[in-house]
Amino acid sequence: MHDIVDLRSDTLTLPTPEMREAMARAEVGDDVWEEDPTVKRLEAMAAERLGTEAGLYVASGTLGNLASVVSHTRAGQEVVLDLDSHIFNYEVAGSTVIGNVQMRPVKTARGFLTPEQVREALRPPNIHVPPTGLVCLENTHNRHGGTCCTPEEIEAVAAVAHGAGVPVHLDGARLFNAAVALRRSASDFARHVDSVTFCVSKGLGAPVGSVVCGSRDFIARARRVRKMVGGGMRQAGVIAAAGVVALERMVDRLAEDHANARRLAEGLAKLPRLRVDLASVQTNIVIFGVEHPEGPGAAQAATTGLVTGCAARKVKVHAIGPASIRCVTHKDVDADDIERALEAFGELASK
Ligand SMILES: *Cc1c(COP(=O)(O)O)cnc(C)c1O
Repeated sequence: MHDIVDLRSDTLTLPTPEMREAMARAEVGDDVWEEDPTVKRLEAMAAERLGTEAGLYVASGTLGNLASVVSHTRAGQEVVLDLDSHIFNYEVAGSTVIGNVQMRPVKTARGFLTPEQVREALRPPNIHVPPTGLVCLENTHNRHGGTCCTPEEIEAVAAVAHGAGVPVHLDGARLFNAAVALRRSASDFARHVDSVTFCVSKGLGAPVGSVVCGSRDFIARARRVRKMVGGGMRQAGVIAAAGVVALERMVDRLAEDHANARRLAEGLAKLPRLRVDLASVQTNIVIFGVEHPEGPGAAQAATTGLVTGCAARKVKVHAIGPASIRCVTHKDVDADDIERALEAFGELASK
């Protein structure tokens, strides 16, 4: 039980006492000189978990995706990705600005490109068109509410891209949520793609950072891009130490967050005027719609009413659209907190 139930995001998780301890004790060096043993340890652990040759610690998922896209592509190439993807929507067009690539967003049913969609989006060898340089996938899918795709789905899409000589990057900010939910290893997802970014700063609870994983050659290129945009850090072992604890201790417990999200979603689904698609609640995110018989204007007002009413009851949630709300479960929200959130929504929804 916490004083404030904060369901706005899993990025709000605070470092555990064990992380603080590890941070205080961390052996460090200059990581731009590749002399920080703790950073190296995190990178090696990440690479081992994902079954890749190497890893690179970066300040954020956004930087991991940027370094990956730029390392895979040349200026003037095109990147095929889902229209709702994080890279296309929430990364300030960094790959376009820094990498001079053109984004080719494709509308998908569930956030996951199908093999047919990739086949259709690949450019033919023709003097008029930008050559396809990369396909990006996202798992779990943020805007679609933490939904998962399977390693087999990734394999099928990657086969089409690779058949055309095009590499595949997986934005796996919450890859471990997918792995835990589907009871697969992280390497099952990673083995079909050429690079993966995952965050230690979300559900895994570390204060800072993501790790990019891929081949040794790819990571050497990504390291240069990281340096180019000012992401070379010095005694970064101080923060990477918490990432080591995150990988060692915080992965299996994600199942608790998923159970809490499910309990929350099932409770919300029973309330009037809330539209919850229970099938979309597969990991730690619950996105639901707010309806009103008087139409969209009233639904929008009701949404604002729910967010502010919850806040007044010390339950923080986030409106992600005019009539939709997102709740994210994480290690700093327990089962009692979920009951409190449901009580708050219950009082407000029956008004
Ligand atoms: C959070 C997130 C990112 C970016 O991570 P930051 O550390 O916030 O930059 C990238 N992709 C997805 C799918 C995310 O959910």
